[in-house]
Amino acid sequence: MQINFDDNVAVYFTLIEESPMPIGLYIGENMNIKVANKAMLKAWGRDNSVIGQELAIALPELKEQPFLEILQNVRKTGIAYETKEDRVMLINDGVLQTFYFDFIYKPLKDNDGNVWGILNNATNVTELVNARLKIKASEELFRKMIQDAPVAIGILRGENFIIEQANADLLKLWGKTEEVVGLYLIDGLPELKGQPFPDLLTQVYQTGVPHYGYETMARLERYGVLQDYYFNFVYDPIRDQHNVVTGIMVVANEITSLVHSRMEMAKSEERFRNLLLDTPMATGYYETEDIIISLANDEMLRFWGKDKSVIGKPIEEAIPELKGQPFINILKEVYRTGIPYHADQQEALLPVNGKMEKLWFNFTYKPLMNAEGKVYAILHAAMDVTKQVRLQQQKDEFLGIASHELKTPVTSIKAYAQVLERMIRNDGDEKKADMVRKMDLQLNRLTGLIGDLLDVTKIQSGKMTFNPIKFDFDQAVREIVDEMQHITSKHCIKTDLNSNAMVYVDRERIGQVITNFLSNAIKYSTDANQIDVSTYALNGEVILCVRDYGIGISKVQQHKVFDQFYRVGGNLQHTYPGLGLGLYISAEIIKNEKGRIWVESEEGQGASFCFALKI
Ligand code: ADP
Repeated sequence: MQINFDDNVAVYFTLIEESPMPIGLYIGENMNIKVANKAMLKAWGRDNSVIGQELAIALPELKEQPFLEILQNVRKTGIAYETKEDRVMLINDGVLQTFYFDFIYKPLKDNDGNVWGILNNATNVTELVNARLKIKASEELFRKMIQDAPVAIGILRGENFIIEQANADLLKLWGKTEEVVGLYLIDGLPELKGQPFPDLLTQVYQTGVPHYGYETMARLERYGVLQDYYFNFVYDPIRDQHNVVTGIMVVANEITSLVHSRMEMAKSEERFRNLLLDTPMATGYYETEDIIISLANDEMLRFWGKDKSVIGKPIEEAIPELKGQPFINILKEVYRTGIPYHADQQEALLPVNGKMEKLWFNFTYKPLMNAEGKVYAILHAAMDVTKQVRLQQQKDEFLGIASHELKTPVTSIKAYAQVLERMIRNDGDEKKADMVRKMDLQLNRLTGLIGDLLDVTKIQSGKMTFNPIKFDFDQAVREIVDEMQHITSKHCIKTDLNSNAMVYVDRERIGQVITNFLSNAIKYSTDANQIDVSTYALNGEVILCVRDYGIGISKVQQHKVFDQFYRVGGNLQHTYPGLGLGLYISAEIIKNEKGRIWVESEEGQGASFCFALKI
């Protein structure tokens, strides 16, 4: 530069040249670069060879930008142009780059007011702008992240918690629309008043400590309906660059249905527990193959003679008195196989007031299985039937004594009656003799009944004896049929005896069964006149059937007729005398001989009573 200024000018020149602010001076219509200080050259990315050149030639990249035109405007109008943070594209290091400048185009005028040059004074604010843009971008990103987050998220700003942002999930969770954004939380969700959330927010805001809520209940008005919902949520404080809390980020996850189903489960478990504990039956609930007592109601504890301390222990440990008794093994077997077990009048030795006592129970072990069919628990229901068993024992004892005591006098009455009949007949008074004969027949029935009662007591006390002998089965049946044929004048007993077998059983007892079948067949078929008796051998068994054509037995009642004292009910009941013991005794006899007994019948179609004995 060949400027011939004095020293002062040199000082100003140096000031300009060294100023950290880019300074330029453009002269004339063509905007000749008169001055461009170091800072300006640096901003342009050029060296001082551009000085003296036209601006448009020195910086050709300006052509597509508005600045050259603005400069011409300033020159023409004489009005300064000032701008802030304006974007300028400049080639630096051979690459077109973006910069931001605050700058002024200041027209310099001569005395006539003509613009002779333009002073360009600039401040490079690129870094500042870039930093601000970056913040903006990251804020935008954050906003977008919240908006798109797969959880419910929102930002509450300020100490009064203005809803700055709430993504779609959060709005849905609140049951509100976009309209609440911009409102105070308490205005957007007025139902929160009186719930703990506003205070929690304030606490987080003031302390800066996040709050985590687990399975927290919130009452929300979703689209007009107030209801309770459950959430896991976080209140996380948001801080500015000075670490001051300026807002709270809310992240929430609704778990209402989970909590509900858990509550339902707990409720049904509770119901099950209560049912178990409240039933008037003794109940227990055992888990794992070690049979751990998970539940036992008071009744059950009373049976065991134990207190609640047994709960949670394996049964073996909890009730050592059961050792040597079959129960624990049966329980383990039920757990292993999944097959339920039931027993009636089962004897058990249990501690009662510290003393071991014999008690009787009806009880069931029912295995509970999961979807895969695996046993996970056993339900135990038991009923103390000790009283009934003892009563029955007393009754049996009484029956035993009574029938025994009756037997002797009845036998002698019978003897006297027979003697009396013969004497009267000898006297020629047939009428009186017949009456005594009838008395004798009634006495036969009485002896029969006493015999039955005696048999029952023998069965019950296990004292019925069996004396097996080998005999011709068909032969024995024929003899009994002949005998029974005398009793009935109405029925013709037809035989078809084909077993041709020798059997080895108690002849008397088997005869008793056949007699019972035949007398029942006679008794329960008053309108018929035929009874069929057949025997045959099949698969190592000899089988006998007595078939009648009488009233028959309905299917439901068939399996009960072998029970003690069972008599088929209904109108016909009183027509036929009997105690309901005959078939019970018969079944016991056959059971003792290891045979089978059964009935085949249709109501009104007669009945077939059969038994099978091993040959
Ligand atoms: P009961 O002394 O009453 O005959 P049983 O034990 O011999 O006692 O028979 C039990 C019940 O079975 C009878 O009360 C009767 O209802 C029924 N029953 C037995 N045999 C027959 C049959 N042949 N036909 C129809 N019902 C029968």
